[in-house]
Amino acid sequence: AKRAGGGAYAFYNEEMSARMEHKSEIESLLLAAPFDNQFELAFQPITNINSGNVTCVEALLRWKDETVSSATPQEIVKVAEETGIILGLGEWVLNKACAFAADLGDGVCVAVNLSPVQFERSNIVETVQDALHQSGLPSNRLHLEITETLLLDDNDEVRADLQVLRRMGMKISLDDFGTGYSSLSYLKKFTVDQIKIDKVFVEEIGVNQDHNAIVASIITMASSLGMTTVAEGVETAEQLQILRGAGCDEVQGYLLSKPLPGAELIDYLRSLEDG
Ligand code: C2E
Ligand code: CA
Ligand code: CA
Ligand code: CA
Repeated sequence: AKRAGGGAYAFYNEEMSARMEHKSEIESLLLAAPFDNQFELAFQPITNINSGNVTCVEALLRWKDETVSSATPQEIVKVAEETGIILGLGEWVLNKACAFAADLGDGVCVAVNLSPVQFERSNIVETVQDALHQSGLPSNRLHLEITETLLLDDNDEVRADLQVLRRMGMKISLDDFGTGYSSLSYLKKFTVDQIKIDKVFVEEIGVNQDHNAIVASIITMASSLGMTTVAEGVETAEQLQILRGAGCDEVQGYLLSKPLPGAELIDYLRSLEDG
C-alpha cells in the first residue's frame, strides 16, 4: 500500500493481519486432529422439479463442534487449498460421502465438490476410484461438482481426467454457473453433464425481470447442448414455479431442505415416502 492516507494504510494492515491470524488459526485446527474428529458432512437434497423425488444429495463440509471455530466451509476450503490440506481433506470427504450413499441404498446419488487443487496436485481419478471401491457405491451414483476456474486454463490433463471420470460412469456438474467467465458453448468441449445455476441468479427471480430471462435462456441453451440444469438456493415457491415454467430439471435450496446431518437426511427421505 502507498501512503495515500495514513489511516487507510493502518486499516489495511490491521485487516491483513486479522486475516492472517484467522488463516493460521484455521490451519492449526486443520492439522490438529484427524478429520474424523473435526468434521462431519451435511447432506442437502436435490429434487426433481416435476416428480418431487430426491435424486441426489450434495455433501457439504461442517465442523463437528461449531464452538471450536466460526470459520465457514468456504473459509476452511480456501485455507485447505492454500496449504495443500485439501488433498487429504478432499479424499476424506469423498470417502465419507460415498460410504453414506452406499448405505442409503435406494438409488439416491451423492454429489461431491472437488477443488481444482485436487486435479492439479493429486491423481483425482485414482482417489475417486478408491472411494468407489472401498464403499461399493456404483459409479453412476456419484456426481462430481467442479467449478469454472478448473476449466479456465483449458488444460489437456484436466480435460483427460474429466473424460476418464465420465467414462467410468460419473456425472460432472458445473457449480456456480454464471458467476465466472465461461459460455455454454465453451463448456461443450469439456462435456459437462449438468449445470448448477448459481443462487445469485435464483435470488433475483421474480424480483428482477432481466434475471428471469437470463435464467430461462441458460436453461434453454443448456438443454439444447444436452446438459441438465439444477437451480441452487431456491428459497421461495415463486422461484420454484418460475423455474419449472422455464424447464429447469432440478432444484436445491432451503425451500425444500437445508443441508442436514446424515440421520436427519434419512428421516427426511422417509417422510417423503410416507407423505
Ligand atoms: P456450494 O458448492 O455452492 O454449496 C452450496 C452452498 O449454498 C452451501 O453453503 C449451502 O448450505 C448453501 N445453500 C443451499 N441452499 C441455500 C439456500 O436456499 N439459500 C442460501 N442462502 N444458501 C443455500 P456451504 O455449506 O456454506 O458451503 C459453501 C461452499 O463451500 C460450497 O458452495 C463449496 O464451494 C464449498 N464447500 C463445502 N463443502 C466442500 C467440500 O467438501 N469440498 C470443497 N472443495 N468445497 C466445499
Ligand atoms: Ca457445490
Ligand atoms: Ca492429474
Ligand atoms: Ca454452488
